[in-house]
Amino acid sequence: MTRIIGTPALDHIDPFLLFDVFESDNPDDYIAGFPPHPHRGFETVTYMLAGQMRHRDNAGNEGVIRAGDVQWMTAGRGIIHSEMPEQEDGLMWGTQLWVNLPQSDKMTAPAYQEIAAADIPLERRAGDVDVRTIAGQAGAISDRPTAPIYLDVSMPANVEFSEALPATHSAFLFVVEGSLRIGGQQIPARTLAILGNGDALFAETGAEASRFLLVAGRKLDEPIARAGPFVMNTPTEIKQAIADFQSGRF
Ligand code: MN
Repeated sequence: MTRIIGTPALDHIDPFLLFDVFESDNPDDYIAGFPPHPHRGFETVTYMLAGQMRHRDNAGNEGVIRAGDVQWMTAGRGIIHSEMPEQEDGLMWGTQLWVNLPQSDKMTAPAYQEIAAADIPLERRAGDVDVRTIAGQAGAISDRPTAPIYLDVSMPANVEFSEALPATHSAFLFVVEGSLRIGGQQIPARTLAILGNGDALFAETGAEASRFLLVAGRKLDEPIARAGPFVMNTPTEIKQAIADFQSGRF
């Protein structure tokens, strides 16, 4: 597993607290999974690229997500869940994004949305660019407090792609396969690109095709207090989260 956002070098990109990529065909790396653990104060978004994972939580939700499926979990005031491999061999590949909640929504009721690949809108644009809209206007997910945009974009070689992005949003992209050029810079595979302030992305491919994830969200500009699986606004709220979890109030 590679932590891309949420490291000493890159603490967060408001409102994104963490971005992990897991990729392995060695069961020893993934078979242990993530046994029951709590979360409070934000949302976790798991997007599978290969393999399958079973989710189960203490609100009674359970499901298996496979390549192309998304699980969007709003931890809100507290959830305890497990994320376990539903396979004993083969490639396990996917991403998990943590999306912060504004102060007004941190103690909301937990919620869980599971979207099958077939239910994620797919648009073929000029140049045979395929855009899967996981979140955004007309996306599978469209009602979250940070108005997130999450696109899975596949570009053939030698084409252009542009996407309007709200100036209120932070944005980044992660190249899954191939490479692409943005503003004259070549972004290789398995690389994060943090986009500057602006209202659109312009990207192009050269001789190589590219697949990338484009993620944007409304900046919250609120204080962040974090301790492992709890992300609140103040240290006092973190102490309360730990106390609530330890006394079985999740
Ligand atoms: Mn978790």
